[in-house]
Amino acid sequence: MQFDLETLHLSSALGRCAYLIVFTIVAVRNPGERCHWHWIGAIFASMIGSTIMARVPTTRWMTFAEAWVIYTFFAGSLALSWSGLREFHGKSVPIRTLAWMIFVPGLVYGGMMLAGVPLRVALSAAVVAGAAYAALGAYEAVQRSQGQRLWSAYIVAGALGSYAVMLCLTLVLLVATDIPMNSTESATASMIVDQASGILIYFGYIAMANERALLTIERLAYTDPLTDLVNRRGLQIKLAQIHSNATPEGVDGVLLVDIDHFKAINDTYGHDAGDAVLATFSQRLRDSMRRSDIVARWGGEEFLVILPKTGFSDLFAVAERLRRTIEAEPFALPDAQPIRVTISVGISEMVLDGFEEAMRQADSALYKAKTCGRNRVCGTRHDRIAPLGMTA
Ligand code: GH3
Ligand code: MG
Ligand code: MG
Repeated sequence: MQFDLETLHLSSALGRCAYLIVFTIVAVRNPGERCHWHWIGAIFASMIGSTIMARVPTTRWMTFAEAWVIYTFFAGSLALSWSGLREFHGKSVPIRTLAWMIFVPGLVYGGMMLAGVPLRVALSAAVVAGAAYAALGAYEAVQRSQGQRLWSAYIVAGALGSYAVMLCLTLVLLVATDIPMNSTESATASMIVDQASGILIYFGYIAMANERALLTIERLAYTDPLTDLVNRRGLQIKLAQIHSNATPEGVDGVLLVDIDHFKAINDTYGHDAGDAVLATFSQRLRDSMRRSDIVARWGGEEFLVILPKTGFSDLFAVAERLRRTIEAEPFALPDAQPIRVTISVGISEMVLDGFEEAMRQADSALYKAKTCGRNRVCGTRHDRIAPLGMTA
């Protein structure tokens, strides 16, 4: 296949213009996300670097000034990709390091040219810097974001990693062979690699921002901010997962937990103290349960726990252990002595997708616990209803 350098330069410039438009709109709409401005800088720098490079005929080597400017812009593009990824992950960007990363490769390359160092050696130094920056960017891309790894980060890491590998291969060619490096073929190959990786990297950035925004929205929608437990909406999602694995003979446990006389805590110590009790209680509740159990804030000072594949006798033991744990250890308050807190618990069994029925039973068991004096666990064994068309 024949490639025409002029056309490649045109498509590269058009592609970068498109990225600039997209990233500028994204950056303006997300003023808190400074990473986009770094990536705009990266696109801009590579655009200027390629434009100047396109003007250097392949029949001669670059002059000192051309080399200095071109390699400064190329280094700047990779360094700003790296710093943008750090910003994206909420890490600090050391400005001095960034400045060194941008300006040193061009100066070293130009300086080597001036000092009469063979051009292949000078070019090797610039290629080493490029490969190192791309590898650093790939490493930054796959760091955890708000505790989670983003799948789309692997697009960016893969593209930057491949770019680093390509530069390493170029280095091998420079050092170990005498293939001409300023030929039309090498310029064409580098343009194609550059455009392919540019597409993956810049689409990858947008995909990363989108994936993280979706995860954040999901977390906000399904989590209670005070206790960090799932809210009712989150519980529905988790229940659907449990139901999809349920078998007709399986039984899941339900605990409906209510803090006793919670209004009195608010009235005596203030709303903030009430909030502190809710937060500490949630933490203790979660710590008392298994990882597979679903712990939700059902509302106010009421909590709901679903214990997959847990029958009545185990359920009662779990609830009773929780009740004793809460009663035993006083709760610290912001501006007062620690206080003792007790809970009442209603328990029930849930068969298949009988959530509504199990909730009704847990609720009446909780009511019984309250009317019997609080600080206790109540519940009755679920009477399994025979499926339609079957006789017991
Ligand atoms: P009982 O033993 O019968 O459960 O009595 P109680 O006082 O715990 O129950 P009641 O329903 O009378 O009062 C619950 C209180 O919980 C009323 C409400 O203001 C308070 N509350 C609900 N949500 C929050 C919250 O997020 N923070 C704080 N501090 N208080 C809350
Ligand atoms: Mg209560
Ligand atoms: Mg209540």
